[in-house]
Amino acid sequence: MTRTISILGATGSIGDSTLDLIRRNREHWQVVALSANCSAEKLAKLAIEFGAQVAVVSDESRLSELRQHLSGTNIEAAGGREALCDAAARPVDMTVAAIVGCAGLGPVMRAVENGRSIALANKEALVSAGAILMDAVARHGATLLPTDSEHNAIFQCLEGNDIKDVRWITLTASGGPFRTKTLAELEAATPAQAVAHPNWDMGAKISVDSATMMNKGLEFIEAWHLFPVGLDRLRIVVHPQSVIHSMVEYRDGSTLAQLGPSDMRVPIASCLAYPERMDTPCKPLDLAAIGELSFFAPDEERFPATRLAREAAQAGGGAPAVLNAANEVAVAAFLDGQIKFTQIAALADKVLDKFEPTAPASLDDVLHVDAEARRRAKEMLQIA
Ligand code: NAD
Ligand code: MG
Repeated sequence: MTRTISILGATGSIGDSTLDLIRRNREHWQVVALSANCSAEKLAKLAIEFGAQVAVVSDESRLSELRQHLSGTNIEAAGGREALCDAAARPVDMTVAAIVGCAGLGPVMRAVENGRSIALANKEALVSAGAILMDAVARHGATLLPTDSEHNAIFQCLEGNDIKDVRWITLTASGGPFRTKTLAELEAATPAQAVAHPNWDMGAKISVDSATMMNKGLEFIEAWHLFPVGLDRLRIVVHPQSVIHSMVEYRDGSTLAQLGPSDMRVPIASCLAYPERMDTPCKPLDLAAIGELSFFAPDEERFPATRLAREAAQAGGGAPAVLNAANEVAVAAFLDGQIKFTQIAALADKVLDKFEPTAPASLDDVLHVDAEARRRAKEMLQIA
């Protein structure tokens, strides 16, 4: 049986992993829309290889380049944010939401409105608009399949069980490249060091988030929306080997965990094939070769991001959107050499402290909070 699929953020790390799986199972999938921010040439190549109906660059200034690369084909080329939302709204069996940042929120919402399956990697969309997005999923009867490895693990550990029986959900964290660094070393950390993750090969933004532990903070908020057990039943443990992707403990004392290689093709495959299973080319888990699994409590002195995320979730309303937006600005500034590594969480903290928006009630409200938090974060960067 052939199913239709669109991949939003097709040129990134999650996009690459998804298309690798589709390439190995071409007979099962028909690609409808592929999108990128500005990599017009790579997008065009993929659209041609996979015979997509439409290719969209959200940076409209790249549209003429995209058109050139697609000339002589019958693939539609489109540009700009509205075009991206329109492409996301084309009905498909499965949408893979793999855009990085809150920029993915509008398109994800359009895909949700179709009431089909969404494989959600774009955690920032859920962090910023959690309640609104989850409400839309329920209203439109969509199926949200968590693709983030931790949430995919939890999703699998919850299957066949009653969420009322859950005592704890434990998100595992690798601890990132700076897990054992001192505060003084963190002060001097460079972008090149921050993006060199020990276990996972990912886009630059999530790699920096892993280094600050903001990734785990965002994932804590993501889990809070996806799995309604309440904030006080969610916890984080540092597990440097990234073999256990997360765990669920039930009230009888049983803990279920999902294990696997540090390869996003595993959780992506679980979403693509859901509720069935499919083959992946990933190496089988060799526990004897791994030898030991270790666990540590998070250190919120050196890595305050998880505390900020917990506080933002407790504050509720627009606070998670503010945290996410300030972090996006701070990470971009760090990658650009404008601020030190330790200033990323400090800036997010400051913006959260100074900006308490009224609770957003609609997608537009969230986008306004996001824009205002970005404006304030950039303003504070000028002063800093
Ligand atoms: P990436 O930077 O490699 O790719 C991002 C994709 O989004 C690219 O196709 C890019 O062109 C597109 N994009 C970037 N900015 C955009 C914008 N403003 N508007 C429209 N499109 C834009 O990122 P990634 O590592 O693939 O991560 C994608 C999402 O998946 C993130 O939310 C990340 O947190 C999440 N995620 C990634 C991994 C991973 O292993 N890479 C694991 C778990 C979750
Ligand atoms: Mg993750």
